[in-house]
Amino acid sequence: MTDREHVAKLVASRIVDVPDFPQPGVVFKDISPLLADPAGFRAVVDAIVTEQRATGFEVVAGIEARGFVLAAAVAYAAEVGVVAVRKAGKLPRATFAASYSLEYGEATLEVHRDAFLPGQRVLVVDDVLATGGTARATLDLVEQAGGAVSGLTVLLELGFLAGRAKVDGYPVHALLTV
Ligand code: AMP
Repeated sequence: MTDREHVAKLVASRIVDVPDFPQPGVVFKDISPLLADPAGFRAVVDAIVTEQRATGFEVVAGIEARGFVLAAAVAYAAEVGVVAVRKAGKLPRATFAASYSLEYGEATLEVHRDAFLPGQRVLVVDDVLATGGTARATLDLVEQAGGAVSGLTVLLELGFLAGRAKVDGYPVHALLTV
């Protein structure tokens, strides 16, 4: 088994499906057992750092809230800084904002206007890529704030929701695609 296959298997075995959460018809992918497992957490963080090192990322942006946990660990391991991409109204200073569609209604994400140095290479990290709206809004925010997206990485991609189409043209990596 290759290292990638080993990590994909680990992710698959430590993510719990929760039917009808947060609403009927949605199968929520709960990554908390993976994060709580010392070997699992270390393996996914190391896998992301190894996979992304060649892109030369200089800072990691994490998407609220589960993306924060992963982004902070990846940034620490790679010896770079971390930036929080937050839900509307949480950041205290001037922000850029991007709105996107959810299954029901709209959501807005924000980042501080001075979060990135001009042209800084930014690795965007989240737990799940579903319809891609969250990721797309974040990539737009990074660019609006002057950063250069070096890649988008997630633990789990829900392939049947075709989120990749929304982030076409960007390097996307998932540790596991189902
Ligand atoms: P989307 O914008 O549809 O790609 O949704 C991605 C964001 O919503 C990520 O930040 C995920 O944490 C969360 N998310 C969407 N669908 C799920 C799911 N089925 N299980 C867990 N998290 C999800």
